[in-house]
Amino acid sequence: MKKITVIPGDGIGKEVMEAAISVLNSLELNLEYKIAEAGNECFQKNGTIIPDETIKIAKKTDATLFGAVTTVPGQKSAIITLRKNLDLFANLRPIKSLPGIKSLYPNLDFVIIRENTEGLYSGLEEYTPDGANATRLITKNASIRICKFAFEYAKTNNRNKVTAVHKANVLKKTDGLFKEVFYNTAKNYQDIESNDYYVDATAMYFVTKPHIFDVVVTTNLFGDILSDEGAGLVGGLGMTPSANIGEDNGLFEPVHGSAPDIAGKGIANPSAMILSTVMMLKHLGELESANLVENSLLKVLKEGKFLTPDLGGKTKTMEVTREVIKNIKIYF
Ligand code: ATP
Repeated sequence: MKKITVIPGDGIGKEVMEAAISVLNSLELNLEYKIAEAGNECFQKNGTIIPDETIKIAKKTDATLFGAVTTVPGQKSAIITLRKNLDLFANLRPIKSLPGIKSLYPNLDFVIIRENTEGLYSGLEEYTPDGANATRLITKNASIRICKFAFEYAKTNNRNKVTAVHKANVLKKTDGLFKEVFYNTAKNYQDIESNDYYVDATAMYFVTKPHIFDVVVTTNLFGDILSDEGAGLVGGLGMTPSANIGEDNGLFEPVHGSAPDIAGKGIANPSAMILSTVMMLKHLGELESANLVENSLLKVLKEGKFLTPDLGGKTKTMEVTREVIKNIKIYF
């Protein structure tokens, strides 16, 4: 039996999590769920946005599903706390155009791998006499770990090229180190092409010629920004899943937030959460179930009869989910 930590969080996080769990339950897999708290509602109840108990549970289970949380002003981030405590150093975001979903380009299929533990999000921020200062920490070990992960990912997923994204012409020491580590790592993967671009050029290429990308590896902030740009290429936030991977743990979450503007209406697009669940199933080695869920969702999207409002339809979250489950039962 595999144990899954389930953190629904706030707003539409709870709604899309209900969808994902219904889909998982329809698979007749042997899963045990451990429900855990995080986010704004948790803060109102317990005075903390992420109780130690949640971290303890997540550390012990085989994988974690995370919905979305509402940021509480003045409080640390629940998801960053989890990433740090579970040492989830790689953030994987597939950018894939899907059938029936409006995409800026057809047939897009690349992956962004973002270093998740340091860079400008190291949490080293302080006030100074005349302003504030944030430290952009780049270590050799973390750079080696993420570059190796990117090449290994390319190797096991039949990808041909890894592109490093940085700004080494300006950030000579930090990104100079990242670039040097990248090309040193590339020497061990002679069958995989390697190249690099500056982050500003990359932002433009994402829009003008995104098909040149296969696997992109980059530092924390650049990866965060490029991931949302990538999401915009293929149908928006409701469609984009992500995985946070460490040596011992994996956490899977949609790229979107808790969307307070539509929360409670039952109209959130469950696709990003369901696709994150597909990534979790693959991570757990449940490939058949992963493909079954993915194909069932893609069929619903392609047919276009049951779409949530963000995709131009009128269908509610759980109705879309029921259609996905119907397909699962047919394919089963
Ligand atoms: P947070 O502060 O929790 O990050 P946010 O509103 O700043 O919330 P998102 O939650 O990512 O950021 O939402 C950005 C926009 O995208 C909102 O208009 C929201 O309604 C829309 N959106 C995000 N996710 C979905 C979804 N799954 N289905 C439909 N619309 C979505």
